[in-house]
Amino acid sequence: MSARTSHVFHRNARLQPPIAVKGDGCYIVDADGKRYLDGSGGAAVSCLGHSHPKVIEAIKRQLDAIPYGHTGAFSNEPMEKLATHLAQAAPGGLDKVYFVSGGSEAVEAALKMARQFYIEIGQPSRHKIIARRQSYHGNTLGALAVGGNAARRAQFQPMLMEATHIAPCFSYREKRVDETEEEYGRRAADELETAIQQAGPETVAAFICEPVVGATAGAVPPAPGYLKRIREICDRHGVLLIFDEVMCGMGRTGHMFACDEDGVAPDLMTVAKGLGAGYQPIGAVLVDTRIFEAIRDGSGFFQHGHTYMGHPAACAAGLAVQEVIRDDNLLENVNRQGAALRRALEARFGNNANVGDIRGRGLFMAIELVADRSTKETFDPARQLHAVIKREAMERGLIVYPMGGTIDGRHGDHVLVAPPFIVDQSHITELVEKLGDAVDAALAA
Ligand code: PMP
Repeated sequence: MSARTSHVFHRNARLQPPIAVKGDGCYIVDADGKRYLDGSGGAAVSCLGHSHPKVIEAIKRQLDAIPYGHTGAFSNEPMEKLATHLAQAAPGGLDKVYFVSGGSEAVEAALKMARQFYIEIGQPSRHKIIARRQSYHGNTLGALAVGGNAARRAQFQPMLMEATHIAPCFSYREKRVDETEEEYGRRAADELETAIQQAGPETVAAFICEPVVGATAGAVPPAPGYLKRIREICDRHGVLLIFDEVMCGMGRTGHMFACDEDGVAPDLMTVAKGLGAGYQPIGAVLVDTRIFEAIRDGSGFFQHGHTYMGHPAACAAGLAVQEVIRDDNLLENVNRQGAALRRALEARFGNNANVGDIRGRGLFMAIELVADRSTKETFDPARQLHAVIKREAMERGLIVYPMGGTIDGRHGDHVLVAPPFIVDQSHITELVEKLGDAVDAALAA
C-alpha cells in the first residue's frame, strides 16, 4: 500500500509505514513477514514485549465482564485494584490515583489539579507553572506550553499559555570543567529559586520536570543531589513539585519510579507508557494525600475529567502488566540487562569519534552523536542524522527512537534505546550490533 492509496492520516504524511500484523515477544512482524527487534519499546512503552499471554487474557476477561461504565456513575474492579497497587508502590504521600488515557492527559490533569489545590486552600493567586527548557510533556496545548521542546512548540507558540522555562540539568552539555557533578546540580537547581523569586512566589503553583529526561534529549539523568535541592526549593516557597514520569517511570530505570533512585518524592507524579505497556491506552496522576484532601474537604469535586478515564479494559491491562512485573521480578532483569546494555554500548561506541555521550539508567539509555567529540559540536540539523539512523535501523530489522537536537540548538542528534524488560543477552547483542551498523551507515551517508 502506498501513502496515496491509504486513507490514514499518518504522522509523516509522505510515508506509508509497514503494517504491523503480529507481536512475538520482543519482536514485531510486518505484513511482509519481516521481523523487527523492538529496541525502544516504541517510545519506551512496550515493557512486556508484544504478546504477553497474561495481559491479553486479563483484557479479554474484563471485556467479557464489562467493557465500559462511565466514571461519573461507576467505579470498576481493575481500577480500584490498580490504584491500590500504585499507591502501595509509590514514594512519599502519593496515595491517590487519578486515571486517564495517556501521558498528555496525565500532565493536563496534574497542572489543573495543582491550580485547583491552591484555590481550595485559599491561595488563588498561585497559577504559574515553571518548567525546563529540555523537556517534553505532551502535545496537547497545556502540556505543550510547559514543555521545552522547541521544534514541537514552534508553530503553536501564539496559542500556548505562559510558562517559565529554566535550564535543564544536563551534565554532558552544561557542567563546567571546574565543577563537580554535585556543584553543577546545585547550580542548575538554584535557577528554580531565582525563577520563583522573579515570578513572585505567591503566584507560582508548580514546577514540573522529568526526573530522567526522555524524548527531548535522550535518557538524561539528573546530577546527584539535583532533585533533592529542587524539592527543598519548592518546599521553601510553597510550590508543588510535579514529576513527569510518563516515560522514565514504571520500572524503566530499574526502580519502580525513577525518582526512587534519588530519594525524592513529588506532590504529583504522572505516569503512562509503561503503566499499560501498550496493551491498552492508559495514564495516571499519582496524587499526594494533602492535595486530594484539600479538594475533598473543599469544593469536593475536581473540575476536570474525560469520557474514557479509568476505562475497565485499560485498567485490567495496567493491573496485569504491573502484576507480571512484580511476580516475574522484572526490575531485577531491568538492572541486569541494563548493565549489559551499557557495557555493550560502551564497547561498540566508546571509541567512535562521533559518539559524544553514552548515558541513562536501567533499560533507558541513549547515545548522543556529535560532529566533533572534543568541542561537542553538533551535526548540521539539515542533515537529519537521526532520521537516517532510524531508516537504516528499520532496514536492518531494528526499532530504536532517534531524535534531533532540540535544546536551544545546543544538543546533538541522539538515539534512545529502551527495550522491553523481558530482554535477554541475545537481544542486547542483536540490538547493539544492528544499531552499530545503522549508525555507521548513517554517518557514512
Ligand atoms: N510526558 C513525557 C515525559 C513523555 O515522554 C510523553 C510522551 N513521549 C508525554 C508526556 C506525552 O504522552 P502521550 O504521548 O501519551 O500523550
